[in-house]
Amino acid sequence: MSIAGNVGLADLPRICPLISRRVQTSVASEETRVVTVGEVQFGGGRPVVIAGPCAVESEAQTLAVARAVKAAGGDMLRGGAFKPRTSPHDFQGLGVEGLRILSEARRETGLPIVTEVMDPRLVETVAEYADMLQIGSRNMQNYPLLVEAGKSGKPVLLKRGMAASLCEWLGAAEYVAKEGNLEIVLCERGIKAFPAGEYSRNVLDLGVVPAVKEETFLPVIVDPSHATGVASMVEGASCAAIEFGSDGLLIEVACDNKGVGRPRCDAAQAINPKTLENIVKFIESRAEMRMMRKAHAV
Ligand code: PEP
Ligand code: MN
Repeated sequence: MSIAGNVGLADLPRICPLISRRVQTSVASEETRVVTVGEVQFGGGRPVVIAGPCAVESEAQTLAVARAVKAAGGDMLRGGAFKPRTSPHDFQGLGVEGLRILSEARRETGLPIVTEVMDPRLVETVAEYADMLQIGSRNMQNYPLLVEAGKSGKPVLLKRGMAASLCEWLGAAEYVAKEGNLEIVLCERGIKAFPAGEYSRNVLDLGVVPAVKEETFLPVIVDPSHATGVASMVEGASCAAIEFGSDGLLIEVACDNKGVGRPRCDAAQAINPKTLENIVKFIESRAEMRMMRKAHAV
């Protein structure tokens, strides 16, 4: 018996021919297709560290975190100006004012910025400020949004839906690719599975990283912050993700000792700048080791 709509990995060449490694054999010879954001390269060998606040809350808070990310060796700044919140009564982000603050932080630190866009009608506005558009987990299958993000021509960071299969995730990426935009970076951010919510926010699915690489040439990064929801787990999850071949990390950071207060969003999962520095050092040591291994292999 076959079930309508039930798809598996064998269907990927049909579902997403533009990004399938099996179909696009010319690209398959390269390990990963490099996606460039400013001077940052995803899939270029050295994993990319994107870090910043969950939400842009004020100029002082965002600049403090941005400076700390730069000092710790981060490559890009994150921060939500439009926030998808469970309750409509909770802080929704500063909107366009948040975008302005992010561009001020980029001007000061030189870090390219990635920020979420939730509404197809706002893609043009967000693209005016951002170097990379983030499509959040809750919107992974918002097809009109994916089409608009594809048309914008901006690099897209496509987070995995919290209950999405690999096929659904890559199918969503294909919507962006179909608009002629292959500047896509995938981001695993934890899935809803037993025991999500008991001792961690979601379940970090690291096995999906090598699986993604097998099916597509697109770079894939990991968000250890939303995957675990617990600050003390973020460093370990980050290192494990790198060991699984992740092309980068998306991490939430707070500097609540700089007179800007505790974050209004996701405070329990925000790491401090010192921990971020440790993660960057780990990446550097692994990158060196990989290069040495490569040199010995030839
Ligand atoms: C985020 O990264 O700001 C975010 C809201 O994450 P997710 O979409 O993965 O929940
Ligand atoms: Mn968050």
